[in-house]
Amino acid sequence: MSRPAPTIGVLALQGDVHEHLRHLEEVGARAVRVRRRPELDAVDGLVLPGGESTAMSRLLDVYDMYDPVAERISTGMPVYGSCAGMILLAADVLDTRADATWFSAIDMTVRRNAFGRQVDSFETDLVVDPLGPEPLRTVFIRAPWVETVGPEVEVLASVRASDGRDHVVAVRQGDALATSFHPEVTTDVRVHRYFLDMVRAATS
Ligand code: GLN
Repeated sequence: MSRPAPTIGVLALQGDVHEHLRHLEEVGARAVRVRRRPELDAVDGLVLPGGESTAMSRLLDVYDMYDPVAERISTGMPVYGSCAGMILLAADVLDTRADATWFSAIDMTVRRNAFGRQVDSFETDLVVDPLGPEPLRTVFIRAPWVETVGPEVEVLASVRASDGRDHVVAVRQGDALATSFHPEVTTDVRVHRYFLDMVRAATS
């Protein structure tokens, strides 16, 4: 008998929650909004969406959700952060607010708004290693990039920026995945399928 589909939550305090829910459902997960503790307790994995990391950090505090999410991450719940969500998974964040907090789930330093302001948002096709050779359409919106990674971090994709250098924009460390870009705003669901596979592997 096949096992039931994993339940994957999307942190629904702020940001593009709906788009992630839709992609997760499309790849076959049970997708639910997570705003409170009981909702968090019911999920096998969690997506931290794009939006505004400093606002999400403040709302995690207001909703008393910082500690519960940190605890689930530290005890092995798979987590995926896109854009603002990537910032929340970093070990260190450059160019953020003094009162911002994050989860230190991935041994990396990220620079917030690294590609410039809203006007510098862009799209490009990128090969993301574990998704196969077919390039993924990637959308960057006031995106962070990864400045440094520790030895345990697997680099999945990089992009050439206007400074002429390649910058890391997709990483994985154990059960934590992060992308600078927003796969939830395209029709390609491969990143969400990859995360679902991570959740399946962790719950089997
Ligand atoms: N610049 C935003 C932040 O600092 C991230 C932008 C996004 O998620 N699209 O959180």
